[in-house]
Amino acid sequence: MPRRTVFLVIILGMLWTSCAAPTPRRAVPLGLEPPVLSPPGELSATQRLAWWQDQLPRLSTEDRSEARLLMGELELELHHPDAARLAFYEAKGGPLSASELARAERGIGLSYFLEGNVPAGVAHLEKALPNLEQPAAAETSYLLAAAHGEAVQASEAVGQRMATYLQSAHLDQPSAKEQELDLSAIHIDLHRADWGAAPMRSNWDRMTTPYRITVHHTAEPLFGTSVGATAADVRHHQQQHMNARGFADIGYHFLIDRAGRVVEGRPLYAQGAHAKGKNNIGNIGICLLGNFVPQPDRGPEYRRAQVPTPLQMQALDRLVAELRAVYHISAKEVWGHQEVKAETECPGPQLLAWARRYRASTPSQ
Ligand SMILES: [Zn+2]
Repeated sequence: MPRRTVFLVIILGMLWTSCAAPTPRRAVPLGLEPPVLSPPGELSATQRLAWWQDQLPRLSTEDRSEARLLMGELELELHHPDAARLAFYEAKGGPLSASELARAERGIGLSYFLEGNVPAGVAHLEKALPNLEQPAAAETSYLLAAAHGEAVQASEAVGQRMATYLQSAHLDQPSAKEQELDLSAIHIDLHRADWGAAPMRSNWDRMTTPYRITVHHTAEPLFGTSVGATAADVRHHQQQHMNARGFADIGYHFLIDRAGRVVEGRPLYAQGAHAKGKNNIGNIGICLLGNFVPQPDRGPEYRRAQVPTPLQMQALDRLVAELRAVYHISAKEVWGHQEVKAETECPGPQLLAWARRYRASTPSQ
C-alpha cells in the first residue's frame, strides 16, 4: 500500500475515534492526489516515534512494516543502534517492496556504523545499494567509499548527513573524485595508440585546472605530411623527452602535424613539461611540428626556417577554441613559449605574432 494511503488510513482512524459523528470523506477532485499526511512537523524525533508507536496496533501488517521502517530511521536519528536494528528487522519480517527492503538493509548497516562495527555495516550497505533510491544511494556510496578508502563524488550535504556515521566508525572522510570533464568536444586525429606512444612513466604531477595555453614548435625540420612521417616524428620527440630529459612522457599535451592533424600527447590530467618549472602549472602545451626558427649552428637542414602550414594554423585555431570552451580559458591566456619564458626563440616569429593577435583580437570569453 502506498505511504499516502497509510497516512490517510491513520488519519481517518483518528478522526473516527475523536469525532462523535462520522466525518464525510472529503471529495478529491479528479486527477489530484490527496494530501500526504504524517505526524505534525513540529514534533521531535522522540515524539514522532511515540506517535508511530501509538498507530501500530491500528495498522495492517503491510502498513506496520512500513511504519517500522520509519521508526527505525527515527531511532537512527536518535543514535539508538539497538532499537533501530530491531525496528528494521521487524520491518523486514513483513511484506516490503524491493526498495523498502533495501531501506531496511541500509538501516541495519547504518546501525552497525553507529556502533563502530564497520565490516558488518559494509556487508549490509553493499546488499542495500543496488535497490536504493536517492539520496539514500548517494549517502550509502559515500560511506562505502570511506570504508574502502576510495574517492567518491558527493555533495557537501551528503557529507554533512553522514558525518556522524563516519565519526562513530572512526573513518576519515572519503576524498573527492575529480570531476570528469567532457573531452569529447576536443577533436583528435591521432591518438596515442595511432602513433605508437610509449606508456607514461610515474614521475608526473597532477594537472590543476588549466587556465592558459602555450604554443611551441618542435624546432626539428619536418617536411613529410603522411601519418607515418608524423608518427615517427612524434615518437622521436617522446623518446627525447623521456630518455634524454627524464620526463614522464612527451612534454606537450597536443601536437599538430604538417597536414593539420591534431595528435594526442601527454594526457590532460597530467601537468605538462613544456614551459619550465612552475610555468607548467595549469598550462596546456600545444606544439606544431616543424622548425620555425633558423638554427645555422645545428647544420645545413636547420639553416632555413620553415613556416607553419595553413592547415596547421587552421587546426591550431580550432583546437585552441575547443580547449578554451571546455576549460573556460580566457583569450588573454594564449601565449607563445618565449612570452612565458624569455630565454627561448620558440615558437618562432609567425606563431608569436599569431598569439599576440589572438589575445588582442579575440573576445576574452
Ligand atoms: Zn617551446
